[in-house]
Amino acid sequence: MAENPFFAPSDLPYELPPFAEIREEHYLPAFERGMAEQLEEVEAIAGSSEPPTFENTITALERSGRILDRTTTVFFSVASSNTTDGIMEIEKQISPQLTRHSDAILLNRRLWERIKQVTTDDPEESWLLEKYRQDFIRAGADLSEPQQERLRELNEELSRLSTEFAQSLLKATTESALVVTDPKELDGFDEAKIESLRKDDGTYVLPLLNFTAQPGLSQLTDRDVRRRLYELSVGRAPGNFAIAAKMAALRAERAALLGFPNHAAYVVADQTAKTVEAVEEMLGQLVGPAMRNAKKEAEALAEQAGFPIEPWDWPYYTEKVRQARYDFDDAAMRPYFELNRVYRDGVFFAATKLYGITFTERPDLGGYHPDVTVFEVSNEDGSPLGLFVLDPYARPNKRGGAWMNNLVDQSFLFGTKPVVMNNLNVTKPASGPTLLTYDEVTTAFHEFGHALHGLFSQVRYPRVSGTKVPRDFVEYPSQVNEMWATWPEVLANYAKHHETGEPMPAELVEKLKAAETFNQGFKTVEYLAATLLDWAWHKLAPGETVEDPEAFEAAALEAAGVAYPLIRPRYRTNYFAHIFSGGYAAGYYSYIWSEVLDAESVEWFKENGGLTRANGDHFRRELLSRGGSLDPLTAFKNFRGREPGIGPLLARRGLV
Ligand SMILES: [Zn+2]
Repeated sequence: MAENPFFAPSDLPYELPPFAEIREEHYLPAFERGMAEQLEEVEAIAGSSEPPTFENTITALERSGRILDRTTTVFFSVASSNTTDGIMEIEKQISPQLTRHSDAILLNRRLWERIKQVTTDDPEESWLLEKYRQDFIRAGADLSEPQQERLRELNEELSRLSTEFAQSLLKATTESALVVTDPKELDGFDEAKIESLRKDDGTYVLPLLNFTAQPGLSQLTDRDVRRRLYELSVGRAPGNFAIAAKMAALRAERAALLGFPNHAAYVVADQTAKTVEAVEEMLGQLVGPAMRNAKKEAEALAEQAGFPIEPWDWPYYTEKVRQARYDFDDAAMRPYFELNRVYRDGVFFAATKLYGITFTERPDLGGYHPDVTVFEVSNEDGSPLGLFVLDPYARPNKRGGAWMNNLVDQSFLFGTKPVVMNNLNVTKPASGPTLLTYDEVTTAFHEFGHALHGLFSQVRYPRVSGTKVPRDFVEYPSQVNEMWATWPEVLANYAKHHETGEPMPAELVEKLKAAETFNQGFKTVEYLAATLLDWAWHKLAPGETVEDPEAFEAAALEAAGVAYPLIRPRYRTNYFAHIFSGGYAAGYYSYIWSEVLDAESVEWFKENGGLTRANGDHFRRELLSRGGSLDPLTAFKNFRGREPGIGPLLARRGLV
């Protein structure tokens, strides 16, 4: 069976997965062998006749499941970025099996008895030991046999529903796409954009992006086309409402089994927020000011339009007001944001200034698609750090949004260096250079912040490597990295005209900055509405069922004080992938929770002179390199020198 590339470690540099050799038929056998191998390893640990020690129990568990780990990592990366019907079929089949497998470990009584007896004096070890204890307790290790049986059923059913939700959403991006036959209806788009939407049958197809306010809404001049696009967006994948309601009910039941009043309480218990009250207190401080700002913005938009606007008009007139007020024009900026330059002279440049690291393209190393580029990253002294893999373009078989994932975790235990990956969803032009919007530039810096968190990891155990920190902490380093997108020295270095090489004119730069706080009312309300919707679904009491999910959604927004016909949540229930097919259930609040830390840290960088090696080193040493190997708030305090406060965040969003 040596021909299955998952059975042995990759012999490519940095153990980069050998994508060229991996075929669809390798996955199932690798999953099966990987699970069987790990169960044997776990049995050996649980059945050992020696007294339990950290080494023969926790470290042994960390060492287990190598084949499964390699397979899972590659499979889910490809399933997200470059899926096929075959992969989707495997995913359906394997997801419940993987859940059953992890239950078989976490609900293994003999193993749990041994873990409970392990002791250690080493701080990193005892932090990891506590993580393991929490993992087992939270998975139901202390429950009775019949309770565990029910828990297994719930987990499997939830994992099946979550896959179903994701797959129907992926189909909806094309099935609910806006289709027009007359290109005049696309007035507002430039010619290259229109050309890129043309299909062989002569129609024009604008696929949906994964959030409510489609980018096309800000450009399309035909009001009725905007309405159609908006309605397609908010109405997509209607079958997902029922799936979501079912999942929320099952999660509530599971939370009750584990001794929590609802799923939200269960989730936040092992986050930095810790309690439902802490989250609600923070969100409560934002709703009033955000709604006031949004309503003020709506007045300005109606004035610009000359009539009462509808939700599909908001982005369009926002652009108009933005142009009138700041003379800001996204289209005028784009020639200065050429993809390669944004990375090499912007994202990478900032990282070199801060951390001394350098990037070399490795055309000899490839990904799963010709558009994927691999870079080798080195420290200032030339020592190897890891690989950075970039997949920038949207494809019909790629899920929406932007994200970072690890292909290889850094760990001293295995001597592995990190291989990290960023995915974006930039539309690939039919020909010529790829010009980004300002939002896409910010996203590139954001995702690279996650990549740095993975690349700088300096920990012993894979369980706490790099970005393996609580959900409400993980967005923090990536948000901090966004600050460099408009840092003068960085911006001047990458924002150059793609044809002439001329730097972006000073007045455009000024406008870019002046417009930064613009439309914050909309953005904050759109985000808060999604957060509070997530919260409502996951505060359902056990036994409570939702018959009419759309009515539930409306009532939840009303109750939270964010029901506003002009601004729907950034994600409605039917396409809220973060919470129904990603890991963010009762965790969407994390973005703003992390932003508290982010705003504090941006302030620290500014207080200390900004883009310097000394600042970069301090952030890298105290925060980025620690991964999840210590209490995240302790790492924050070691970096910042004080407890976080909400002040800098409110000021930044114009909410004071
Ligand atoms: Zn992020």
